Amino acid sequence: MNSQWFKNTDIRVDDVSITTLCSHTALQIFHGAKREGFKTVGIVDSSRKWFYDLFSNLIDEFIVVDDWFDVCSPRVIAKLRELNSILIPHGSLVEYVGLERIRKIPIPIFGLRDLLVVESNQHSKMELLSRAGIRIPKSYRFGDNIDGVVIVKLPGAKGGKGYFIARRGDEVIAGINKLLEEGIIKDVNEVLIQEYVIGVPAYFHYFNSVILKRLELFGIDIRYESNVDGLRRLPMDVLSSISPTFNVVGNLPLVVRESLLPTVMRYGMNFIEATRNYLPPGIVGPFCLEGIIRDDGGIVIFEFSGRIVAGTNLYVQGSPYSQFYWDEPMSMGRRIAREIKLAIQEGRLNEILT
Ligand code: AMP
Repeated sequence: MNSQWFKNTDIRVDDVSITTLCSHTALQIFHGAKREGFKTVGIVDSSRKWFYDLFSNLIDEFIVVDDWFDVCSPRVIAKLRELNSILIPHGSLVEYVGLERIRKIPIPIFGLRDLLVVESNQHSKMELLSRAGIRIPKSYRFGDNIDGVVIVKLPGAKGGKGYFIARRGDEVIAGINKLLEEGIIKDVNEVLIQEYVIGVPAYFHYFNSVILKRLELFGIDIRYESNVDGLRRLPMDVLSSISPTFNVVGNLPLVVRESLLPTVMRYGMNFIEATRNYLPPGIVGPFCLEGIIRDDGGIVIFEFSGRIVAGTNLYVQGSPYSQFYWDEPMSMGRRIAREIKLAIQEGRLNEILT
């Protein structure tokens, strides 16, 4: 794979609209774009329009669709062009609109388009992390003997929905067969069977600035998931009869021991290097490494997101880490807009859009 820089020079640099789908981190993205002086455009599903209307101070123009698939219709594309849009990808974009449509959408995307493709496949995702030299959990194939506890994961950014825990090979096979029967997956290779790592989950947010040539650690969060994060309230004897599930319901802020930060930064740097080597021209802007901090201080990364993550919604006024780079309220949404602004000022917009 090889993402192309967006060469289409007909983007009018004095009149850019920051555009995103009204979902996920949209309010933060619009808020940040406004602070940087940009026009904002929200693509909104008609059923949610009333909600986003409540924030009309942040959104200059709406493009209303009745179905997310319409995002790639000639009508919407023409409107996005007319509005001189740069599209900011987030977790709902690929999930709602579909990977192939987004891959081909003829509108400049902020960041590395092909990373969205790698991200949507659990196996290629883990391969990229492994090539980056980042510590990852052990993986198993369908039918393998299972040594310890495993988590079985579905493809795509579904926020942990449908994942299950198993202790033995026959439990894994039964669970996957059920997913096949229910039509949730079509092929056993779509799922990832991964060692369940015990420790504290932590999601590390980064921003790779191509314009300033530096990696910024932007924040850390813990995802709060139902029901797994509620189980600790129950007595031990009840717990054995309950299967944990991993539906994300929100995010909690986290700072980690400072002695862990060198590993966190090293992982981020390794990840950027791997994307440059295997997905040239390499990652631009926000990304997240998602892992478990073990009791020996080791950090095992089980997942990445190659775009803004929902945990950054915690830090609309900046995080304890973003303060070290930007002595002003700097959310991830604003940081994206700032990068675009700096690129425009330096005539380097083509280095950050694919
Ligand atoms: P993911 O969709 O990969 O972010 O996973 C959803 C949730 O499942 C995570 O937030 C964790 O709580 C849990 N999880 C995923 N992979 C692992 C793993 N290898 N070990 C322990 N917990 C995991």
